[in-house]
Amino acid sequence: MKTDAGAVTRGASLLPMLWDDTHAARLSPEALLLYRSNLLGSDQRVTNFGGGNTSAKLATPDPLTGKSVDVLWVKGSGGDLGTMKLDGFATLYMEKILALPPLFTSAADEDRMVGMYPHCTFNLNPRAPSIDTPLHGLLPFRHVDHMHPDAVIAVAASKDSRALAQQIWGADIGWLPWIRPGFELGLKLRDFARQNPQAKGVLLEAHGLFTWAETSKECYQNTIEVINRATAWLAARNGGASEGAGVGASSGAPGLGKVLVAPLGQEQRRAIAAALMPSIRGLISERTRKIGHFDDSPAVLQFVGSEAFERLAALGTSCPDHFLRTKICPLVLKFDPLSETAADLIKRLPAAVEQYRHSYAAYYQRCKRATSPPMRDANAVVYLIPGVGMITFAADKATARIAAEFYTNAINVMRESEGVSSYCGLPEQEAFDIEYWLLEEAKLQRQPRPKALAGRVALITGGAGGIGLATARRLADEGACIVLCDIDRSVLEQSVNGMRASHGPDSTVGVWLDVTQENAVVAGYTQAAWNFGGVDICVSNAGIASAAPIEDTSLELWRKNLDILATGYFLVARQAVRLMKQQGLGGSIVFIGSKNALAASPGAAAYCTAKAAELHLARCLALECAPAGIRVNVVNPDAVLRGSRIWQGEWAEQRAKQNKTTTDELEAVYRERSLLKRSVFPEDVAEAVAFFAAEWSAKSTGNIINVDAGNAGAFTR
Ligand SMILES: [Zn+2]
Repeated sequence: MKTDAGAVTRGASLLPMLWDDTHAARLSPEALLLYRSNLLGSDQRVTNFGGGNTSAKLATPDPLTGKSVDVLWVKGSGGDLGTMKLDGFATLYMEKILALPPLFTSAADEDRMVGMYPHCTFNLNPRAPSIDTPLHGLLPFRHVDHMHPDAVIAVAASKDSRALAQQIWGADIGWLPWIRPGFELGLKLRDFARQNPQAKGVLLEAHGLFTWAETSKECYQNTIEVINRATAWLAARNGGASEGAGVGASSGAPGLGKVLVAPLGQEQRRAIAAALMPSIRGLISERTRKIGHFDDSPAVLQFVGSEAFERLAALGTSCPDHFLRTKICPLVLKFDPLSETAADLIKRLPAAVEQYRHSYAAYYQRCKRATSPPMRDANAVVYLIPGVGMITFAADKATARIAAEFYTNAINVMRESEGVSSYCGLPEQEAFDIEYWLLEEAKLQRQPRPKALAGRVALITGGAGGIGLATARRLADEGACIVLCDIDRSVLEQSVNGMRASHGPDSTVGVWLDVTQENAVVAGYTQAAWNFGGVDICVSNAGIASAAPIEDTSLELWRKNLDILATGYFLVARQAVRLMKQQGLGGSIVFIGSKNALAASPGAAAYCTAKAAELHLARCLALECAPAGIRVNVVNPDAVLRGSRIWQGEWAEQRAKQNKTTTDELEAVYRERSLLKRSVFPEDVAEAVAFFAAEWSAKSTGNIINVDAGNAGAFTR
């Protein structure tokens, strides 16, 4: 098969059995549960991120009496199976859980039952039990898994899911009609298991899978085997399209119909996403600033280019986990890549965004109950564009990326289901009752207050070392996403890896950038746009330093200083302003100046003049960009030697010579020269940049902060 987006192999991809007996033999019963949980959670085909849960009922000594009691170990609220640790399990006395059923008399008791679980806590474990706790606790088996595998949900979300389940698994796996997770579902599961002792599990309509066994290993094997049977069965009928998409093929996956729009090439897809995302971001960030994520994987491209795309997208997602992350429906942006450009799409955006908000508000009005919490953000999370891919927006990068993963899960489910049956979304009222469940609201209310730069994107030039890297760390500490730009590829790679290790894999993107090249600067912002959705903070920091008496200053040296420090700052700021104006959300531009911008130094005319030009450029921009809410300020460091690449080599020698000392003594010389007699470090400068970057300085523009431990010659006036 010819494809445009990478070769695709057809055929069922079955899950391997990864259980290692030698390893397992060394583990305690609770460690075995953790081992099983991590194995299952590490494969997205088994369960989505943060989705599903596992449990074991284990004899454990009571901390008070020392007597062995039966304890339910069940994955607690929050966290992810693939990466969880032992402290991710809630522990509850089985005796108390089994005393709960008489307290439940009707569906109206659901919320009250959740308040009972903490009363069952074993060993003062602070991990909150999740709403799935009774599903595990009431099933009469030692080990229970609850997973959300795409292949199984495809069956569960099909119109005739009960008949399909019978065909695939026979009597091994039962079927229960849709019911919101909670105590009532726990009772139904218990009753099913009592009436069907031969069953190895049960399919929950529109939701997922429960499987069980008497040992951890058997439970793991059962879960994998049940999923594999569904995968193989679907592959036999759908041609293994779950592998990914036959993108670019004239005939699509059986479930999706004909290919209507062939995907554009990767470069074009990214260019369109980059053009579109700042505009979307501007339109949807009025309440909270959002971060974007772009996904053009084969499965997504196949879906958005297919005949069935608009019809299926309108049906909404099914598994509760899916729509909590993606909202019930995505926003479909109509686009014909053959006859239209990104500019045409951008023109249509405001109306499309408004229309989505309107229909979300109507959904809220139709479904709300007397006790429902107020309507939340009405903007779409998922944006789908034929030929281009999927864009997601959320409060932070990880959440946006995970929303894209979830919608990809939903795409897999729809495609596979449609190939063998008809896909059904969850009824609107059911979806609403989960989305606006008071317990869900309580979970949202418990979330910590967002950091000062949450939802902000900062582009930093000369970002791979010294002041640039210290600034990246400081802004990331406050929640900003970082676009780290540098001209030195190897140092850049190292610094990006360091940032990802300290602030998370989603925190930072690295961009090679020569600030003197107009095209490279534009390309840097394009990367920022399709990686994060735009830019709010621009820290222009890339620099050099040189010293020479005027009669020895070559034209080349003069031009180099002006190219990097004046022209480079102009190019980087100009593109920032263009992007910030497109977003319409204001912005903050911070120039890293120098004491020499204010106070002349002997023997460095080229450098001092270029720095002065930079300072004046900032003032001009502060004046010109204020109506757009874009603030422009300058931080003037002096003598920041540590971690600086400028201060390695020639410049340090020149300065040492000028000050009649050695390079080793230079830091001490500068310290003694300062009014406060203190050394200045990159972190000190980063602190001032953070002040200008954040809303702490919302009323400041055209300003200068000196970070130089005090230098009378640089006092501003
Ligand atoms: Zn579930």
